[in-house]
Amino acid sequence: MNTKQVKAFGTEAADANLEKLNIQRREITPNDVEIDIEYCGVCHSDLHFARNDWGFSVYPVVPGHEIVGTVVGVGANVSKYKIGDSVAVGCLVDSCRSCANCKVDLEQYCPEWVGTYGGHDKHLDMQTFGGYSESIVVDEHFVLSLPANLDKAAIAPVLCAGITTWSPLRHWKVGKDTKVAVVGLGGLGHMAIKLADALGAEVTLISRSPDKTQDAMNLGADRVVISTDESQMNAVQGYFDLIIDTVPYIHDINPYVGTLSTNGTLVLVGYLGPLDPMLNSMPMIMGRKTVAGSLIGGIAETQELLDFCGEHGITSEIEMIKIQDINEAYERMLKSDVHYRFVIDMSSLKK
Ligand code: NAP
Ligand code: ZN
Ligand code: ZN
Repeated sequence: MNTKQVKAFGTEAADANLEKLNIQRREITPNDVEIDIEYCGVCHSDLHFARNDWGFSVYPVVPGHEIVGTVVGVGANVSKYKIGDSVAVGCLVDSCRSCANCKVDLEQYCPEWVGTYGGHDKHLDMQTFGGYSESIVVDEHFVLSLPANLDKAAIAPVLCAGITTWSPLRHWKVGKDTKVAVVGLGGLGHMAIKLADALGAEVTLISRSPDKTQDAMNLGADRVVISTDESQMNAVQGYFDLIIDTVPYIHDINPYVGTLSTNGTLVLVGYLGPLDPMLNSMPMIMGRKTVAGSLIGGIAETQELLDFCGEHGITSEIEMIKIQDINEAYERMLKSDVHYRFVIDMSSLKK
């Protein structure tokens, strides 16, 4: 298959900085849309993958799965999009389309789902490359329509930070009067607060960072609990219906389980791996509590969220950076110094 060389930013090794490199994109097939990338959000997963934190990265890695841009080419069978449309791509670029999960719009749980980066491009028989690049070619099924009324840069984080928190909020039927807690105020956490608030829930942020209190309240939280303060944690024992835990690294989740009400659920979306210290089943059994996990969201659900954001005027709080600032942005992310999502102005790659 013919390919086209495209400028990108990525890394050749787990311990190397990201720098300029060239990648190959496939030529558009009949079902493909070619997108000129204008903005790309920076997810903590980009950092995990660039540095091989999960142990399955394939190099070179070009991260980026919060992609916003304009259609510049369409294949012969494409019916949903035309040249000039404002569109987006999130964390998924392909799946089998026929398994039990795909049939019910849960492509993210398809055994053959293809991630936007580090997945397997069946056309080129090599790894996929993400949005820290000039352009991308994606099957139209995995391309999303953007609401026209929202800032194009500030909507980018909805494609991962937004959908990853929206999906559990919807699955666990959060609505008016649901008591929701969000653990960690970063990219995912700040979208979780906004979305849970927009669904009518009572929202609490549980954070290690007292200096983020006012921001959390401005984002829509009703209360902030500092996780290192025992008396504050004791005050919310048995309280929450749903907790969304966005902490990226290993941590003790037992104190959070204690804050769940009877029938309450703690959903892990951040840390991937075995827990340490171990999970104590006692409070779970004594209170019919659940510890669960959740992965991004399907394409239909992501479109539902984009439309919801359009109707409610919801976008992300962003700090715009140039692609040349990405390594420094990763270091700030490791210090939890993100307010509250970096978004790359991809025009900087052309310089
Ligand atoms: P982020 O912007 O860096 O935010 C993470 C927040 O967690 C920090 O701001 C901090 O908040 C808190 N935190 C960080 N390190 C901590 C530690 N060691 N102990 C306790 N709290 C800590 O990251 P993000 O982009 O929101 O991503 C969060 C995690 O979700 C990452 O691991 C990412 O890979 C994962 N993720 C999962 C999915 C999925 O589908 N499940 C999708 C996207 C991302 P405070 O300062 O408030 O404590
Ligand atoms: Zn992400
Ligand atoms: Zn499938």
